[in-house]
Amino acid sequence: TKWVYSFGNGKADGKADMKELLGGKGANLAEMSSLGLPVPPGFTISTEVCTAYYDNDRNYPDDLSGQVDEALGQIEDIVGVKFGDNANPLLVSVRSGARASMPGMMDTVLNLGLNDITVEGLAKVSGDERFAYDSYRRFIQMYSDVVLEVDHHFFEEVLELHKEDNGLILDTELSAEDWKGIIVQYKKIVEEEYGKPFPQDPKEQLWGAVSAVFGSWMNARATTYRKLNDIPAAWGTAVNVQAMVFGNMGDDCSTGVAFTRNPSTGENAFYGEYLINAQGEDVVAGIRTPQNLTIKGKEEQNSDLPSMEETMPEVFKQLDEVRHILEKHYRDMQDIEFTVQSNKLFMLQTRAGKRTTAAALQIAVDMVDEGLITKEEAVGRVEPAALDQLLHPTLDPKAERNVIGHGLPASPGAASGQIVFSADEAEKMAQSGKDVILCRTETSPEDIHGMHAAKGILTSRGGMTSHAAVVARGMGRPCVSGAGDLRMDYKNETMIVRGETLKAGDIITIDGSNGEVMSGEIPTIQPEMSGNFSTLMEWADSIRSMKVRTNAETPNDCRTARSFGAEGIGLCRTEHMFFDADRIVAVREMILSDDEAGRRKALDKILPMQREDFVEIFKIMAGLPVTIRLLDPPLHEFLPHGEEEMQDVADAAGVPIEKLHARAAKMSETNPMLGHRGCRLGISYPEIYEMQARAIFEAAAQVSKTEGQTVEPEVMIPLVGMKKELEILKALVDRVAKEVMAAEGVEMTYLVGTMIELPRAALRAGDIAEEAEFFSFGTNDLTQTTFGLSRDDAGNFLGAYERNGIIEQDPFISLDQEGVGELVEIAAERGRKTRGDIKLGICGEHGGDPASINFCQQVGLNYVSCSPFRVPIARLAAAQAAI
Ligand code: ADP
Ligand code: MG
Ligand code: MG
Repeated sequence: TKWVYSFGNGKADGKADMKELLGGKGANLAEMSSLGLPVPPGFTISTEVCTAYYDNDRNYPDDLSGQVDEALGQIEDIVGVKFGDNANPLLVSVRSGARASMPGMMDTVLNLGLNDITVEGLAKVSGDERFAYDSYRRFIQMYSDVVLEVDHHFFEEVLELHKEDNGLILDTELSAEDWKGIIVQYKKIVEEEYGKPFPQDPKEQLWGAVSAVFGSWMNARATTYRKLNDIPAAWGTAVNVQAMVFGNMGDDCSTGVAFTRNPSTGENAFYGEYLINAQGEDVVAGIRTPQNLTIKGKEEQNSDLPSMEETMPEVFKQLDEVRHILEKHYRDMQDIEFTVQSNKLFMLQTRAGKRTTAAALQIAVDMVDEGLITKEEAVGRVEPAALDQLLHPTLDPKAERNVIGHGLPASPGAASGQIVFSADEAEKMAQSGKDVILCRTETSPEDIHGMHAAKGILTSRGGMTSHAAVVARGMGRPCVSGAGDLRMDYKNETMIVRGETLKAGDIITIDGSNGEVMSGEIPTIQPEMSGNFSTLMEWADSIRSMKVRTNAETPNDCRTARSFGAEGIGLCRTEHMFFDADRIVAVREMILSDDEAGRRKALDKILPMQREDFVEIFKIMAGLPVTIRLLDPPLHEFLPHGEEEMQDVADAAGVPIEKLHARAAKMSETNPMLGHRGCRLGISYPEIYEMQARAIFEAAAQVSKTEGQTVEPEVMIPLVGMKKELEILKALVDRVAKEVMAAEGVEMTYLVGTMIELPRAALRAGDIAEEAEFFSFGTNDLTQTTFGLSRDDAGNFLGAYERNGIIEQDPFISLDQEGVGELVEIAAERGRKTRGDIKLGICGEHGGDPASINFCQQVGLNYVSCSPFRVPIARLAAAQAAI
């Protein structure tokens, strides 16, 4: 087996796409070498050795050492000096390199091959004694730290003491004699702490370092990191051994790191730092202040240290050329590491650079303009979920934060406002122009109006899929949920945080992007929908085949969604309209009536209000398709709480309160999720659906008359499991439509369809499609009913399920493609067989999740529908799914 891959001298055994075998660092060193860039020669011991090593009780394959010797020989030939040669020693670095960079892996060891004798040789051939001893002391410290596990603070103490005693400040001020003395002390520390003298044999040093890299693959930190990030242990790490080049040989030497473009703004400008007469990680270690690479960078940061462009103009020019070569070749922004030895440039690393979302957009758009990448590639490079960063206000990073508590980052964005403890109070204060944060133990559907009115929502209980979290994300309100160190005391209108008491009206700030709760107001900065954002979105739109709709029921949400590019409404939940202050009493009156006549009386009061809701939505949506779901939740959700509210309803209905109590008791259900809801309501109280259908068609007629717009409502019946249910309710809708058209004297087209949210509906989709003109997959309920678990209770055990590896992800956040997904596939296929042109879509949280959107594309759905703030994410994800 080939275990070892050489690179150097314009050639390489490996290349960039061999990351699995060579790790990221090794693969790119090989690639740069093949490109003819100045890379010090070296070799990579492959990840297969790591696997073999662990499979074989920490023993290396027999033929490995022969291959290492041969590769070492190749380095010696290229550089012209020999490893372990006393007069002129080859020194190497030993660098770990997994496929993805990973904390916990062994740090790089530099200057390996030095010992008490070779250091003298190095001093002589370089003519620089100080440099030789500086390199040796660095080697002893690094090797002892990472291979022999002698803590680095021992060495730092010695160095600090020496500097103090001799009135020295910078490492560069120490002479060869200083370092010699320090080396003696370093070696003493090793004997004491390690129990054996510092290894003098270069070969022993080499294998010690190689084994330390492989050993670090299984250390606790690396193992934990892999678990958290789903990296299989079987991947293994590679080891890179590379000839040293020296940035610490004087003032014509330096070392540095750079990005080929600005990683925070994306600007096409070289961006980096360097240090003269320094080695390795001195730049990032913060020992000395690094200097800017470019004059531009220096000026932007008001630095008075000279840039590399000024101090080493020739080398800088060469580096700038490398920058262009790498970008052209990799066609992406690169993060590079380099060293300059005696005015000669050497490249030590390149990889795709990490960047902010704003920079990602800028770079993607620029690179298309520059002809480096195609629009498809640009669209493919931006992480859809990361767009969220750009859509919400964020805290001014310069502002001070007084953090008083922590919760979950439930809905991104930051907001400041006065503390209020009830939804009604939130609404009242918002109407008088105040900014408020709604603070609740947890929220429920009846708090919706307060959540709308508030700038942000804070709860002390509930997870990432709690009511507060889901609704807040839907509305685009910042939300911190489950902040367990807060206690809400509604009675005294106080919030207790770690012994401190905050009162209603006090100002707090929440950051829904990291879960922080802060006291006082902290300034926020508004997101900029810059030109790049819309450019990339346009490209995405030209690529994708699925439509993107939104879940919205308020005029505000509809407008927001349209401004984000929604192409219709996929789910308008009519029940949310029932909670509004001006109609909840009528709704309750309707629910609590014990006969049809009483219900109709109350429904007559609701009809004009509901019609107005639809008129406004149809106007805003201007001819785009609108799917309206008829009433879905069990009626008791609307019931009054407490005597006062009961009395209000009793007064409005003109019945004694006792009667209401009896009726309310009768309605309570043990298992409301599986109870009297959805189309079951329509079957038992047809007058409710009749009123809703009437409101829809009358509104459509009105808008088409007054606005001259064609409105094509899509009426959706929830929770259908049997064809007969839909048959009855569709007949009802058709009848009302006919009546309205006759009365208004207009012709209208409309669709009647159903949600597929029960396993039975998915299985019987073939006959349901005889009635249904469209299916909308209600994957929230379909997930609940397929798994047989309730979303509100799943928080208690889903965590343990994830830890035990039973599920990979919360199925309410990302669609369970295997199980729930199979039902979606079955329903889509059977539905289409019956009705070739049946419209298929998905609504619910999954419609905004990139992985689930990709699945929808594979199944061939016509559209996805998601909350307004996720519309841009869905547009991008749908485009990526189509590529
Ligand atoms: P990391 O993965 O932490 O970046 P590296 O293996 O890249 O670790 O090594 C860190 C630094 O050590 C490099 O940025 C470079 O400055 C220095 N270095 C590594 N190998 C060599 C070498 N052969 N010659 C000179 N410097 C080196
Ligand atoms: Mg590096
Ligand atoms: Mg549902």
